[in-house]
Amino acid sequence: MRILFLFTLIPLLFWNCKSQTDPPTLILANGKIWTGEGPDTFAEAVAIRGNNISKTGDSKSILELAGSNTEIIDLQGKLVTAGFNDAHIHFLGGSLGLTQVDLLATTSLDQVISITEAFIERNPEKDWITGRGWQYTYYSSGLPDHQSMKALDIGKPIFLRAYDGHSAYANPKALELAGITSSSVFEGFGEVVKDSKGNPTGALKEGAMALVGDLVPGPSYDDKMNALKKGMELAASLGITSIQNASGSEEELKLYLDLMKKGELYIRYAAAFSVGEKSTAEELTRFNFLKDSLGAENPWIRADAIKFMIDGVIESHTAAMLDHYSDLLPDDELALGMLNISSVKYQNLVKELDAKGFRLYTHAIGDRGVREVFSAYEKAVHENSFRERRHRIEHIETLSPDDILRFAASGIVASMQPIHADPATVGVWSKAIGEERIPWSFAWNSILTSGAKLVFSSDWPACISLDPIRGIHVAVNRRDPFGFPEIAWIPKEKISIYEALKAYTSLGAFSSFEEDRKGLIKEGYLADLIVLSEDLFIIDPMKIHEVKVTTTIIDGKVIFERK
Ligand SMILES: [Zn+2]
Repeated sequence: MRILFLFTLIPLLFWNCKSQTDPPTLILANGKIWTGEGPDTFAEAVAIRGNNISKTGDSKSILELAGSNTEIIDLQGKLVTAGFNDAHIHFLGGSLGLTQVDLLATTSLDQVISITEAFIERNPEKDWITGRGWQYTYYSSGLPDHQSMKALDIGKPIFLRAYDGHSAYANPKALELAGITSSSVFEGFGEVVKDSKGNPTGALKEGAMALVGDLVPGPSYDDKMNALKKGMELAASLGITSIQNASGSEEELKLYLDLMKKGELYIRYAAAFSVGEKSTAEELTRFNFLKDSLGAENPWIRADAIKFMIDGVIESHTAAMLDHYSDLLPDDELALGMLNISSVKYQNLVKELDAKGFRLYTHAIGDRGVREVFSAYEKAVHENSFRERRHRIEHIETLSPDDILRFAASGIVASMQPIHADPATVGVWSKAIGEERIPWSFAWNSILTSGAKLVFSSDWPACISLDPIRGIHVAVNRRDPFGFPEIAWIPKEKISIYEALKAYTSLGAFSSFEEDRKGLIKEGYLADLIVLSEDLFIIDPMKIHEVKVTTTIIDGKVIFERK
């Protein structure tokens, strides 16, 4: 990539400069600009003035607009798209994870151990060792225990969450500090896992994780701000220019507002407030106040979404299923998974917050969980006054075919994470789901074909990679980067690169009612765009995972360049 400054072109363009009163600040020329409006809407060049796209067209006519201070990037044929919009992310948690034991990129138990040991050695001052990223497939039983994690039985407490954040491993010291013994009983959404002799194994599911997690000293304000800066740097290197947080509090929102005030926010942020069984009326009133006081005009921050959780995850049998898990007996306590909020309470909250004008997201992974969400959203649509809503169901890892038309019928957006379907990571998942339900797993093509709007995201840090390119690779191939499996996993659910890119750009903007200002490379739109190392539209689909973002531009400014 070369950045040319205009002096080389001044003689050619001088006549034109005189007629330009307001020339572009930045031009990207000699490339392949995918505008995002259709599968083959391409331009050669794009002109940016300040923070907006001022024009797209052929290189000659766009370069003629240049002024003496216009910076020009020669794309040398490279592909440019709108910046990625990660529509479901837990950005603070992910960013803090960058300062802890980061196991997201691991592929084996050995790596979990060696990376954790290396972290302990590098950080001798830390009283608690915390981290995230192990996968269920590393363990023969699907969960870690003191035997498999023996190397971490040291004098310090260690607390490592699974990549999806729904289970954790606590070493013997951590269990001791939490007072967890064979006589401990956990009541609620979750489990203290015990072996056949009744001894805790160190594995904790869902709510039971808090027994240990609550003991870990929390990060300070400065820790969080520093972590967010690291997170933004990582996101910029992956071409992510907008994020929609899928959990959060007022305190978390304030961090982003502080970054914005200091001029240090360089990712567009849509906050969501977490609401559940225990949320109080005062909290809901406060969230509504924050939503209204921030409004919808600021292109950097909005706070108009609510996040619910209706169930858990398949791997720990906490996702709510219509029929029993294939690897559990029908009379098992968890045979149908569980709802983590009562249907009535959830429906009432949905109706109330819908009426207040929030966008609603609900985590629903089991087919019963998904059905519960449809019913609650449809009820609110029916009982409250008419408006366009764009409520979303998050994850939809399993789905009853009987429910598929309900997306389009009520304008409910399907929000999915292709990276969660990386075939190398779905072994434990598939066993629990069983052959019969497999055809409706991560069924993004069926959902699209049914007429639904589909948005993509990472769910970082509850995933093996934040990189949108990795997600797009899985969406298009349903095979992992190493070619596994040889025949795509449920090939009928593959989608085109066009649909995958749309779900990661313009439809993300649609989801937050911002399709008129971002997600496309179009005159008047915010100048958030990325340059890619290869042309995703013509590359061998199995090489998509090798593609890198080489330049990231947000608000008209280059914030990342790959050296
Ligand atoms: Zn999530």
